[in-house]
Order: sequence, then C-alpha cells, then structure tokens
Amino acid sequence: MKPKLVVVGAAGRMGQRILSLAIESGRFDIVAAVERQNHPDIGKDAGLLAAAESINVKLDSSYPADADVTIDFSQPEAADKTIDYCAENSVSLVLGTTGLSDAQREKIEIVSKKIAVVYATNMSVGMNVLFSLVGKVASMLGEQYDIEIIEQHHRFKKDAPSGSALTLAENICKVTGRDFPGALIHGRSGKNTLRQKGSIGMHAIRAGDITGKHTILFSTLGETITFSHTAHSRDTFVRGALRAAEWLISKKSGLYSMADVLSIK
Ligand code: NAD
Repeated sequence: MKPKLVVVGAAGRMGQRILSLAIESGRFDIVAAVERQNHPDIGKDAGLLAAAESINVKLDSSYPADADVTIDFSQPEAADKTIDYCAENSVSLVLGTTGLSDAQREKIEIVSKKIAVVYATNMSVGMNVLFSLVGKVASMLGEQYDIEIIEQHHRFKKDAPSGSALTLAENICKVTGRDFPGALIHGRSGKNTLRQKGSIGMHAIRAGDITGKHTILFSTLGETITFSHTAHSRDTFVRGALRAAEWLISKKSGLYSMADVLSIK
C-alpha cells in the first residue's frame, strides 16, 4: 500500500515540485493538496497545476480525515493548523516551513510525543552534512577564528536570516558553548561596529531567483577557511522531503531531524 500523502502549500514554489516529483515517483497516493482559502486556484486539479498529470485531487483549503503523512512547505501562519491537524488525526508530519516562532517550535516538541515528526530547515543531503560539520570545525579551530555566515536567496523569500543559516549558527553555538541566538550579529551598520569576540556575523542577501546559497567563513590573522553550499534547484529539498515522508511511515512518535532520516552521524 502506498502512503496516503497530504501536501500543504500545494500551489507554492515548493508545493508544486513536491506534487510533481511525488506523482513522478509513483510511490505516494496523494489524497489532498491544501492551500489557503482565498487562493485563486482553489478547485483546480492539483496534478495539472503542478505541470504533471491529473490526479483527481482538487486544490482545497480543507484537510482530509484519512491520511498517513503530511508534507508542509507553506508559511508560518499556516503551520499551526497543519500541526493541529496531524496531532488530532494521528498523521505523521514532515515540516519544512521556516520562520517558525519559539512557541511553534515548542508545539512541535509537544505533538511529537504523539505523532512522528521530521522538522528540518533544510532537507538537502549536502546541507545536512554541513550542519553536522560546522560545529566540529568551529571547535577544532578555537576562539581565534571569527565566524561569519552569508546566505543568499531569491527576492520572494519572506524570512531572514534563512532557517538554514540559523541552524548552522545554532549548531556552532551548541558545540562551542556560545549563546544562541545571543551571539548573533545581524549585518553591520554604523560608526562603532568593531567585531565582538565570539560573535557570529549573519548576512542575508535577497536577489533575483537564487534558489539558496550558504557560505560560512572561519577566518583568523593569516588564513580563512570557507565552506559553501549551493542548491541548484528546489528539487534537492523536495527529494529530501519525500524521502523523509517514506521514512516516517514506519517510525514511532518522536521528533526527528534530517540527520536521522539520512543516517548522518
Ligand atoms: P511560496 O510562497 O511559494 O509557497 C507557500 C505556499 O503556502 C503559497 O502557495 C501559499 O498560498 C501557501 N499558504 C499560505 N497560507 C496557507 C494556509 N493557511 N494553508 C495552506 N497553504 C497556505 O513559498 P516556498 O518558496 O514554496 O517556500 C515555502 C516554505 O518552505 C518557506 O517557509 C521556505 O522558507 C521553506 N523552505 C524550506 C526548505 C527546506 O528544505 N526546509 C526549502 C525551501 C523552502
């Protein structure tokens, strides 16, 4: 039996690719394509909208009663409804929406006692390897190395800095004992912006149609180490999300990361 899949944010940039690759894979039974109530495409065939084939599922603002797993790439305002729906109907959840509040992150932890959840700010394999590496690198280099994170995204992205840039910083803080988010300095402007020891500089660029690029500099007097990850297309996140959805089906309740899904140590 194929897992019954609900896609939330189904008409969005990510939602469309989730639908398209889920249909192409033939591994899911798509039972709902959820969008905001006033979306102009409500009522249209979700498969055709995603430039794939008809799947006899219409774009709708309501969630179905019967499903196995939900993938949500929408907006923070929509995430609460998805989390509540999954908890109330015992549906596993893959949540990729970024810009969530602390209260929403706490809510995810609470519902994960009842259902299986993967929450990840970036679902690509490469970025998850980088998430795991940066803390180790920072701790090996020590406090003489200044750390700056520069992220680049398309002009339509609403939240800044990106969820992935925050996860990179959070992982570095965890391993090196820095305060998160207290150690972060967002951009610099003004006459007295001398670098604070132990701070992590965060810089968000928004331009054109850049899918996503993250660069981490470790720099001291005499040398710089640079790590950079570039997403060539959204499909790298989509493949990760679909992999997480299939992986979750056999899992008990709990809050899992992409590192768990991908077995990255
Ligand atoms: P988008 O704006 O193109 O799509 C979001 C969609 O959500 C829109 O179609 C919007 O109408 C819909 N939506 C809004 N309110 C809704 C509601 N109440 N119910 C259902 N749908 C609703 O954005 P996008 O580029 O597709 O990105 C979506 C989210 O995914 C963002 O938070 C982005 O940062 C995140 N993202 C995460 C990853 C990852 O790997 N975790 C990768 C890329 C993007």
